Amino acid sequence: MSDKEKMKNEKKPLNRQNSSWYNMSFLDYGEKDSSISVEDLLYDIFKHNDADHLVVGDFLSALWSTGLRNTDPRLSELMQNLQKIQQDLGRDGPGNLENLKLNRDQFKASINENIVLVSRAFRRQFVIPEFEEFTDKIEKFYYTCKEIDTGKVAAYIPQLERMSPNYWGVSLCTIDGQRFSIGDVKIPFTIQSCSKPLTYAIALNELGSEVVHRYVGQEPSGRMFNELILDHNKRPHNPLVNAGALLTSSFMLTLIRREMALSDKFEFVKSFLKRMSGGEFVGFNNAVFLSERENADRNYALAFYMRENKCFPEKINLRECLDFYFQCCSMEVDCESMSVIAATLANGGICPTTGDQVLKPDSVRDVLSLMHSCGMYDYSGQFAFTVGLPAKSGVCGGLLVVIPNVLGIALWSPPLDQSGNSVRGIEFCKELVSMFNFHRYDNLKHAVNKQDPRRHKYETKGLNIVSLLFSAAAGDVTAMRRYKLSGVDMTQSDYDNRTALHLAAAEGHVDCVDFLLKYCGVPPNPVDRWGQTPKDEALRFNHSAVAELIQSYMDKKPIAEEPVEDPKAKSKDQGSIGSIF
Ligand code: GLU
Repeated sequence: MSDKEKMKNEKKPLNRQNSSWYNMSFLDYGEKDSSISVEDLLYDIFKHNDADHLVVGDFLSALWSTGLRNTDPRLSELMQNLQKIQQDLGRDGPGNLENLKLNRDQFKASINENIVLVSRAFRRQFVIPEFEEFTDKIEKFYYTCKEIDTGKVAAYIPQLERMSPNYWGVSLCTIDGQRFSIGDVKIPFTIQSCSKPLTYAIALNELGSEVVHRYVGQEPSGRMFNELILDHNKRPHNPLVNAGALLTSSFMLTLIRREMALSDKFEFVKSFLKRMSGGEFVGFNNAVFLSERENADRNYALAFYMRENKCFPEKINLRECLDFYFQCCSMEVDCESMSVIAATLANGGICPTTGDQVLKPDSVRDVLSLMHSCGMYDYSGQFAFTVGLPAKSGVCGGLLVVIPNVLGIALWSPPLDQSGNSVRGIEFCKELVSMFNFHRYDNLKHAVNKQDPRRHKYETKGLNIVSLLFSAAAGDVTAMRRYKLSGVDMTQSDYDNRTALHLAAAEGHVDCVDFLLKYCGVPPNPVDRWGQTPKDEALRFNHSAVAELIQSYMDKKPIAEEPVEDPKAKSKDQGSIGSIF
């Protein structure tokens, strides 16, 4: 069965446009009546119309559509509570959780411990609020890249040579723990060079940047990743080429945790990775480790060359140092776990799914800076230019991409291009930044050619509504003109469905009402939560001129009539838009 078919057969979450919670404006902007708890609100949204119960499946599928998963450690109490209720029902129970019915008290008790996360999810307060809309595009990129059949699988050791060129997996995890995966995302692969930024991060965390960079530089080498070359200070160019990574390994044997046995040091690094992945899959491939050690002439040559040039902090056992490096390269992840590792880097070192502060934010900043300039072998400069994101690739076909403060992505496909980067992985990144404004130097304010799936869009929207309604109530037609000019939707309403026209009419601001109807073409008779139109408001507060004006627009035929151009919209107002927004 193809991936597409598999996905079709999977139970799809509720259609977001039709699902009741999606349009619940009071969840978007906060509760109107603070005496009603969020638990009650959710129960009322999901409860079946005529019965006093909700079906757990309806609630959960809406929850999963926000990007959360039933395996999320932050929801463990909710899942346990639901399972317990189901078990207590025994043989007569509904069979599976999806069909379980809960009354109000059962529901409230079940979600109580995780209510903060659940309510953030339904209020669309995660970094990617329209998660399914966003992942639909990711899915599209996945299929586009799946078609690619160029590139060669690494063949310097048999374990890599035997990998299928068809493997292709994409996983992402946001800084709020929203997850999406498609393709071969559960198949383990060795992290290889993707371990380099991670061991560098551990070294920074343990020793600090000043100590680490006494021994290793921050410059792209401009040469092959395993070239026998040092910078003019006789140091490795950066920690992401082999020379630099051997140096990081030497730190592990010397400066870091001296008291530990070698075996414990291996565990120490592995447990760092495990914590970064939120406890998800991290393994070790002994066959790859043995093969790496067998085929290590270049790495041995590098280590000797570095010792000759006194690169290492102390006298070290070179064989142990190389073994440690090969062990790090031979650790295994899958796309799913690697995406959480990438998300931990995107989140300043705090794992999004566990809240565990694994790395210091400053260590992560240094790692991302070098991933940005040096993470993609000989293609690093071009990647920084075209994609503009910190990333690190490995010879196994893995590619770890970080969108700082937003999300982490793991891509895996073994066929490599001439620079040693996954062909499908690179193409995916290009697709991603051609649609979304994730390139580090995309302008978030003025550029219009890309989409922004981030939450701040909503925060801006919330701000716009407040400012717009405020100026309508205050009769500030100049401010309203500026909003119109800068593209604000003049028809938008607050959580009570009150529009700018309602407020301007209620306050008797005839010029604002005129501006909204004549120049903005807003509908003359929107109905608010209490069934009131702007004309009703005008009459209620004895503004008959306003009521008449609105009535004259209501009498017009509802033919799509272009609003008249506002003569004052040009000239001086135009110059001040920037200062308002
Ligand atoms: N095991 C490889 C080496 O050191 C890692 C290569 C890579 O992923 O770049 O040569």
